Amino acid sequence: MAEQSFELTGISSVALHAAGNGHAEYAHLPPIYASSTFTFDTAQQGMERFAGKDKENIYSRWGNPSFKVAEQTIAALESFGLKDEQGNPLQLKALLHASGQAAMSTMFMSNLQTGDTLVSHFSLYGGTYELMHKVLGENGIHTIIIDMRDLNLLEDTLKKNKVKLIHIETPANPTIQCVDIAAVTKLAKAHGIIVTVDNTFATPYLQQPFKYGVDFVFHSTTKFLNGHGTAIGGVLIGKDIEFMKTKAWKWHALLGGNANPFDAFLLTIGMKTLEVRMDRHCSNAVQVAEFLSKHKQIAHVNYTGLPSHPDHATAQKQMRHFGPMMSFELKGGLESGKKFIDKLQMCVRAVSLGTADTLLSHPASMTHYSVPREERIRFGITDGLIRMSVGIENIADILNDLDQALS
Ligand SMILES: *Cc1c(COP(=O)(O)O)cnc(C)c1O
Repeated sequence: MAEQSFELTGISSVALHAAGNGHAEYAHLPPIYASSTFTFDTAQQGMERFAGKDKENIYSRWGNPSFKVAEQTIAALESFGLKDEQGNPLQLKALLHASGQAAMSTMFMSNLQTGDTLVSHFSLYGGTYELMHKVLGENGIHTIIIDMRDLNLLEDTLKKNKVKLIHIETPANPTIQCVDIAAVTKLAKAHGIIVTVDNTFATPYLQQPFKYGVDFVFHSTTKFLNGHGTAIGGVLIGKDIEFMKTKAWKWHALLGGNANPFDAFLLTIGMKTLEVRMDRHCSNAVQVAEFLSKHKQIAHVNYTGLPSHPDHATAQKQMRHFGPMMSFELKGGLESGKKFIDKLQMCVRAVSLGTADTLLSHPASMTHYSVPREERIRFGITDGLIRMSVGIENIADILNDLDQALS
């Protein structure tokens, strides 16, 4: 087959072809390598493989050809069109994990030690917040939570504390808060601080954090990258290739957060349609937000595409579209929230996000039921708040379902 003489011009072509088209047995799609271990022809070959001179596989906790296809695709998506400091195409390495939480654990554990301090912000994913305060906290790693949209407060925090790492999640739950990646990274780099970004809500199609000089990006691939809700997964991506191949790889292998071949295959297939799905998710979301913001039963809509959202300008600056996630506040509190959810006929009642169909949840009666009311209200999770992951259904049907459930 002739080598490709032209560069790919868009994310869809990258998602479809980045991992190459030549698979074993001329299979069109990448095979699922359901094998825990791999064989050696000779002891000599085994030795060379362990020494890293022979790059073939050894054991699936350390790597598997089914993971590699997904990893190459994600690295290509996150680096698409970007340059490194020398002006060469940016090189990234991705490591697939069993879940977003596993990828995040590798990221924090390989970069932080007892006595270190990290800074992050309000409205983090629940698992991230708990990992910081429980797992990292119990291991002597201190987390400072601030409002990172206030850059003066961030600068002050960096002056007063010896900070090792800044973690950003943007856009973030449930208010769809956005943090300015470029501005935070600039401040961090002036202080020699590592910057990590949770890019789950945006995907590399809507937002490429490496453009602004961040060090690590991770995703829960469970969400929009997989796109169909068929598998839990996560990925850690880094630009320090040596670190990714040595420490990050080692920590991921020792903590045991490896992916599995079937889920990696589902992810690879899901990512092929990333661009067309995201375009439809996002155009539907804009129309849903406009509809809801005019509805008399709705007190407030949190969507960055609406000029009334406090982070509208930040989102516009760093994202291609405003994304598929929103939340809205029903007039009438807890009871009206429950009633609305119960009346939905097509849209699905479920937590999680990023599936092709529309998912709605009511945090006060579901994900945050066990959180004391005062505490959850402090995080913006009010009684009548509904979270919505807008799907790719025909827009009229989504609006009809919302309209009848609100009546
Ligand atoms: C789901 C999610 C995670 C955790 O990922 P899992 O795949 O559930 O382990 C982390 N961050 C964000 C923003 C998420 O939505």
